[in-house]
Amino acid sequence: MSGVKDFRYLIPESLFQEITQKAAAELPNLIHGWLFAERKENFGICTKFIMNPDLRKSKVHMKPRSWMRYKKSKIYNMRKFKQELEVDIVWQWHSHPSGNDKLHAIDKRILKYLSNGVMIIVIPAIPEKEQKPHLVGWYYDKRYTKKPIIEKMVFEIISE
Ligand SMILES: [Zn+2]
Repeated sequence: MSGVKDFRYLIPESLFQEITQKAAAELPNLIHGWLFAERKENFGICTKFIMNPDLRKSKVHMKPRSWMRYKKSKIYNMRKFKQELEVDIVWQWHSHPSGNDKLHAIDKRILKYLSNGVMIIVIPAIPEKEQKPHLVGWYYDKRYTKKPIIEKMVFEIISE
């Protein structure tokens, strides 16, 4: 999935517009969901995304109420999506209304707890603040090293 230097991440222009506009539509709230991709030999191409219905809307990052339940539910959902939707890659995404594309302290704590995973950050456009739409991924792995490996996943926007 990552860790491979020549692996490329692609997202069709229309999907990039949809996901960043969804994040903008929900401002000032932070939203989260799942992003699906198809794996090819040396690249992954995003195919679809969904947003989690959230009863408790939040403008800020929140710690999971139960870390263990969070992990179990993530594993359960990823497995379910892979089977039901027949997708190769399932990533979690959430929006950063602030425009900061770095991992938040809580994002890092979650990744540390999971010990391995990917987080996709979606930045909504805010024209008044000259904030441009953007999408980036962070790959995290501390399974085999003392210091975690954190790699930025740069997505190439492609026109269909
Ligand atoms: Zn975050």
